[in-house]
Amino acid sequence: MSRIVGIDLGTTNSLVAYMAGDFPRVIPDADGRVLLPSVVAFTPDGILVGETAKRQLVRHPAQTIYSVKRFMGRGYEDVKAELRYFPFRLEPSQEIVRIQVGDRAVTPPEVSALILKALKERAEAHLGEPVTKAVITVPAYFNDSQRQATKDAGRLAGLEVLRIVNEPTAASLAYGLHRLKRGTVAVYDLGGGTFDISILKVQDGIFEVLATSGNTHLGGDDFDRALVDWFLADVLARHGVDLGRDPEAMQELRLAAEAAKCRLSFDERTVLTIPFPQHGLTYRREIARAELEALIDPLVAETLGPCRLALADARLQAAQIDEVVLVGGSTRIPLVRRRVQELFGKVPHSQLNPDEVVALGAAVQAHILAGGITDMLLLDVTPLSLGIETLGGVMSVLIPRNTTIPTSAKEMFTTSADGQTVVDMHVLQGERELARDNRSLARFELRGIDPMAAGMPRIAVTFLVDANGILQVQAKELRTGKAASVEVKPSYGLTDAEVERMVEESFAHAEEDVTSRLLIEARNEADTVIRATERALGQGRHLIDGDEAERIGGALATLLGVRDGNDRDAIRGATERLNQATLHLAEALMDAALKEALASKPVTEVLEKTES
Ligand code: AMP
Repeated sequence: MSRIVGIDLGTTNSLVAYMAGDFPRVIPDADGRVLLPSVVAFTPDGILVGETAKRQLVRHPAQTIYSVKRFMGRGYEDVKAELRYFPFRLEPSQEIVRIQVGDRAVTPPEVSALILKALKERAEAHLGEPVTKAVITVPAYFNDSQRQATKDAGRLAGLEVLRIVNEPTAASLAYGLHRLKRGTVAVYDLGGGTFDISILKVQDGIFEVLATSGNTHLGGDDFDRALVDWFLADVLARHGVDLGRDPEAMQELRLAAEAAKCRLSFDERTVLTIPFPQHGLTYRREIARAELEALIDPLVAETLGPCRLALADARLQAAQIDEVVLVGGSTRIPLVRRRVQELFGKVPHSQLNPDEVVALGAAVQAHILAGGITDMLLLDVTPLSLGIETLGGVMSVLIPRNTTIPTSAKEMFTTSADGQTVVDMHVLQGERELARDNRSLARFELRGIDPMAAGMPRIAVTFLVDANGILQVQAKELRTGKAASVEVKPSYGLTDAEVERMVEESFAHAEEDVTSRLLIEARNEADTVIRATERALGQGRHLIDGDEAERIGGALATLLGVRDGNDRDAIRGATERLNQATLHLAEALMDAALKEALASKPVTEVLEKTES
């Protein structure tokens, strides 16, 4: 089996790692750098990726794309609010986000594919062999379409993506926590622009994500900003100069502030010297770690709320967490480590480089897939229920929410009209009873069914959610063997908040939803009995007398009269009465059919038929 690499496709930086013997190792570029900035620049001379693209950010912002991960698998509506953080132009009319760069529009998977391709080439150069298979990590809260978009990006880069793995799971794997017999793990991930907390359960090498929370706009960049503001005020006080209006000076101050912040993770004090010749001054300032801590403490405190929320969602107390893992460059800050330790009452794992830990874990997962470690699986759950639309616009759930994946479900369905040769399959996601209140994931048709009476075709619908959270739906008519399937690739994604909203709405509307559903079911049942009666009358009118025909006709008319009303009890009552009225006719028809069969066919054949 060829080598499988592990890739951390990050918002700010991306990395690739592989298993060197028993240990995972990140792969550096020719200059020895392991972090590839997740930046792509579309210049007139060609496409740049990584460090060189990052340098274009200030000079050519309009053609340089960064943080593309925030747009993966999302629709315009999903990312509208996000746009205030970006200089990008998006096409509002499109369901799938397209980013405008110069005169072309690119999709997020295309941009991510360029980053992945650079990592693939780096790995090939380092290992001296072709690399075609990868495991890629995504945040635990990524939904189907975000995972699918990540897979697409891999495919576009010429990589077979064997598994999409949750970042916190990867980080836990890097620390060997899959070897725990059972336990709970909190993964605290504070990067440059995002904060994620995940609570995982591990048992016999199987990980399950119990809860996630975070803040998509909180991280080291905010610490830098706080520090820059402090320097700006200091320059104004001491030199009487406002650098805030000079973009170039601001950029320099930002870089110097970030460098000082990083030094203060290891040193108690540091000195900053920046010449601003255009303003006739050189700014020189000593800053102590305690001063930085005072500045950023309120921001660090902001990460603790989501931690408590995730704990509550997982129904755990902080003291019940067995292991704490630190991920992301900002967890090098001693204050961050102290706050995390205070909250969970444990010394967090921090021996591995927090920038590399996710990629290292992805390499461990790749090793497991390649057969290096065989005794484990990685689990996750479906955030929302999955099902199909059935007669009357009702959602029939095949896989309930919070089902551990990978999972599959199979149910039998049939047609509702006589002679129907095509069945419309409408795949839905959500918690509401009616199809129209849920999210439409895909539609496809099952064609070529032999014309049969309603209710005769046997259609097996199978849902399969793979370990990456990607849904495959198949419909197969068992008599004709005709099948159709779809891999669900939703055109726009759901945010965490939306998932929550959909679940909450289902509670809020529970009563009216159930009422509508029961009404629709009553009508469906009435239709079945009406059709059966009409068919029976057509075939067996000669088997009953005038009185009976009149009784049946009367019951049928009553049911047809109430069928479209909203009185469910009236519909059910009339259906039951029509059922009763036709009992004798049904028996007479069966007798007649049996007699006919016995008369026209040899006995052995009839027996054979019933046995088979
Ligand atoms: P990540 O998104 O995980 O790559 O983390 C990047 C963030 O980590 C940036 O805000 C960096 O400034 C920050 N960072 C990296 N090294 C350090 C350090 N030694 N001390 C404090 N922050 C750091």
